[in-house]
Parts: sequence; structure tokens; C-alpha cells
Amino acid sequence: MSREIVKIGRLPDNTLVVAYPKISSKHCQIKKVSDTGFVIEDLDSTNGTFVNSRRIKQTMIKPDDELKLADMVMDAKLVLSVFDMKTEVEKINYADLKKHAEIHDDFLKLKKVYEKYVSDKKKLMMGSNLTSTGLRAGLSLIPYVGTALGIVATGMTGTVQAKMYELDEKFKMEYICPVCFRFLGMEPFDNLAKRGTCAYCKSKWNKEF
Ligand SMILES: [Zn+2]
Repeated sequence: MSREIVKIGRLPDNTLVVAYPKISSKHCQIKKVSDTGFVIEDLDSTNGTFVNSRRIKQTMIKPDDELKLADMVMDAKLVLSVFDMKTEVEKINYADLKKHAEIHDDFLKLKKVYEKYVSDKKKLMMGSNLTSTGLRAGLSLIPYVGTALGIVATGMTGTVQAKMYELDEKFKMEYICPVCFRFLGMEPFDNLAKRGTCAYCKSKWNKEF
């Protein structure tokens, strides 16, 4: 017997568990309505369910459609393959379904995330016309801006501090392991690439095993 319904969300009581922070605890569900027909329904998620770039409440979904939960693109073929898995398997982690090539591609995207964070932070520091030695120390520590922030923050105006905070929060949501979605810390991308392994889930990010 195959599955009739697959629930997707952040919490472990879903069929397909996606531990990504922007995904709601119960995000959406897919029902099998015929041998090849599937209907996806958003469960009032915070950041939305999108099929072919359109935010949906309920719609049909096919393996070659583009599926996006919040800002996370998912392989619809992989997601629908869950219907063919044995019913004894109660929950599946989306990360386990991902192919190694996909993990590698997602890992490479972190380079841009890191570079943008560093350049945005640099701009913010330059723009906040501070002349304190703290700021100079901060700038010289780039790309270790995260560590430098503590030194610099005391000399900054409230607005700049708020913007810094915003930037840091955004970075923490985006600079994450493509498998376990944990924040990778302030470590420069090149360091991560050299190590090639997640310190938390031990996944290998490189193409060659
Ligand atoms: Zn990981």
C-alpha cells in the first residue's frame, strides 16, 4: 500500500521534515488524488507555498513543476517520490532525499551570501562616519566582521546598530548548512570550502566523496 497524504513542515510530526527555519511547523500537505494526480495545499504557512512562482492555497502539482516553500526551492520530483516509499517509514528528512550534486550546488551559493554580508557590513561601517579606533579595528578585522562587531558597536548610533543587527539576523538565516540548515557561524566561505564537512551533521559538501 502506498501513501495517500504527505505532510511537510519543520516539526518531526510531519511525513517530510524540513528543518529550515523559514518553513512553518506544519507548512503544507500533498494528497494523492489519482495514480499520477497530486493536490498540494498550503496550511496557512507564514512564508507561503509557491508552485511555478505563484503563491497558492491549493493546486495540482506535477513532478516537473517548480515547488518553493518560503524561499526554499524543493525538487518536486523528490517530494512526490515520498508517495512511493514504504508506509512503515513514518517520517523522512528532506535532506536525506537530496542528491549529493544538489547539496554541492546549494553549498556553492553560500559564497555569494558571505560576500554580500561582508560588503554590506563594510558599507554600513564606512557610512557611519565614525573615527574611533574601535571602528578602525573593526574594519581591519573584516572579514571577521562578526567578531569585530562587539568592539565597534559601542561607538555607533542607534540606527547603525539596528541596521547591523538586521544584517546579522539575515545572515544567520541564510548562511546555513544545506543539509541540516544550521547557522555556520562567522567563518569565511573559503574556510568552509577547505574543510568541506559540516561540523554539526557531518555531511560532505564537496562533489567528490
Ligand atoms: Zn549540517
